[in-house]
Amino acid sequence: MAMCGAKRGEMTARAGCGEGERAVDPQIDRQWLRGRRILVIGLARSGIAACRVLAGLGSDVTGNDQKGRGDLDSAALDEIEAKDVRLVLGSHDPGLVHGIDLVVLSPGVDPRLALLEEARRISIPVIGELELGYLLAHAPIVAVTGSNGKSTVTALLGEILEAAGREVVVAGNIGCPLVGEVHRASEDGVIVCEVSSFQLETIRRFRPRIAIILNLTPDHLDRHGSMVAYVDAKARIFSNQGGEDVTILNADDELTANLAPRVPAQILTFSASREQQEGAFVREGTIIVRRSGRERVLMPSESIRLVGPHNLLNSLACVAASSVLGVADLAVQQTLQSFQGLEHRLEFVRKLGGVSYVNDSKATNVDAVRSALESYAGSVVLIAGGRAKGVDFRELRPEVAERVKALILLGEARQVLHDALGDLVETHEVRTMDEAVTLAARLAEPGDTVLLSPSCASFDQFRDFEERGRAFKRAVARLAPPDKDRQ
Ligand code: ADP
Repeated sequence: MAMCGAKRGEMTARAGCGEGERAVDPQIDRQWLRGRRILVIGLARSGIAACRVLAGLGSDVTGNDQKGRGDLDSAALDEIEAKDVRLVLGSHDPGLVHGIDLVVLSPGVDPRLALLEEARRISIPVIGELELGYLLAHAPIVAVTGSNGKSTVTALLGEILEAAGREVVVAGNIGCPLVGEVHRASEDGVIVCEVSSFQLETIRRFRPRIAIILNLTPDHLDRHGSMVAYVDAKARIFSNQGGEDVTILNADDELTANLAPRVPAQILTFSASREQQEGAFVREGTIIVRRSGRERVLMPSESIRLVGPHNLLNSLACVAASSVLGVADLAVQQTLQSFQGLEHRLEFVRKLGGVSYVNDSKATNVDAVRSALESYAGSVVLIAGGRAKGVDFRELRPEVAERVKALILLGEARQVLHDALGDLVETHEVRTMDEAVTLAARLAEPGDTVLLSPSCASFDQFRDFEERGRAFKRAVARLAPPDKDRQ
């Protein structure tokens, strides 16, 4: 697969720019980075990975976080300090950018920081960790973005490529920052990388060979300010592509499909409801791939193991990408039949007294909750709440009215959720996950599903969505079987 040509040319080394001739947009590559003074902002997973890699390349690295050592991973900090990374913790002092050649920003950091304003004022280039990873990558990148489904599609496509015997590295927001993974894939391999809108805000040359946009629904509006700004951030994924690259769009999602005229690359589309000219779609229950006017019948859509209509779309996105990457149909079929999904995404936990318990802690927005509710046939006891992200929970009213028999609310947003949905069904407010699960078990009847699908971020009560999901699973594990199960 000749996918890397354009990028290789772009990465060709240019004479480094010395003092006094600082370029705002220097041609950053391994050679340029050697000996440069680099400031890495944000020392969570991505920032640590960036520090480690830059120190390994011979850069003079300072790591900065507004948190103190006690709130960060101190073992990781020790490790990068041993590699001569200087640490400045406790604040983002704007003076830190003076004398620096490049600022590398972690995705969790707000790009409106005063320190970054100062960097821009004195013309110091600022790039994100994703951009740095891209500039160092040998293998072509398949970049996956969207409001929901990114991790699922990234992992699923990674598994498909692995089943096809390809050299594949899965990276990005899924938990392994790109910059820390790129060395694992040679130019004959493929990197499948989950990218968020935050990361796309700070790209410059990032040019994926294949860009996938799964859907665009309201999320993170607290940070992006408006839906237009959010959509524009996502659209940056294809902004550096050329005619030899490919963008894959969801034809069933209006906002995503409407991006087509802005795409400079070849376009493939996927749809669960309508035939597509170029891409993947479902016809009478069968998944079809159509490329250059030729159709291939792949498999019945019902033999996909993942549940829910949204996961059919996720699978179709992978089918379309696989066709571009030349993957044999058998590898796609077998993986779609066996892939069980990721932890905390509609994860089946346990069946007890005829009630199914499902952990969907990763559902941090309205659309994810909507797709969760559409995935189960019986009635749902829904556990929701956490920290609201500036979206309107009333959008869930039709699905809650139709599918939810009781609503159990916790966290900071419980009152807002109560106001938005409480008149529709029996609603309770609780303080802890244990209370929520115990009450849900009391309210559920055989055939029902108890679903944790919070529609909110987790940070008010938990470290992250994973800790929240584990708290749910622990509480479910502690439930005693109902009397009739004991007999
Ligand atoms: P992301 O990485 O974009 O957050 P995940 O795959 O981790 O996506 O899934 C996050 C949540 O969104 C889960 O609750 C999951 O069930 C739901 N979800 C997954 N794919 C989709 C989709 N295509 N449309 C709507 N919701 C989805």
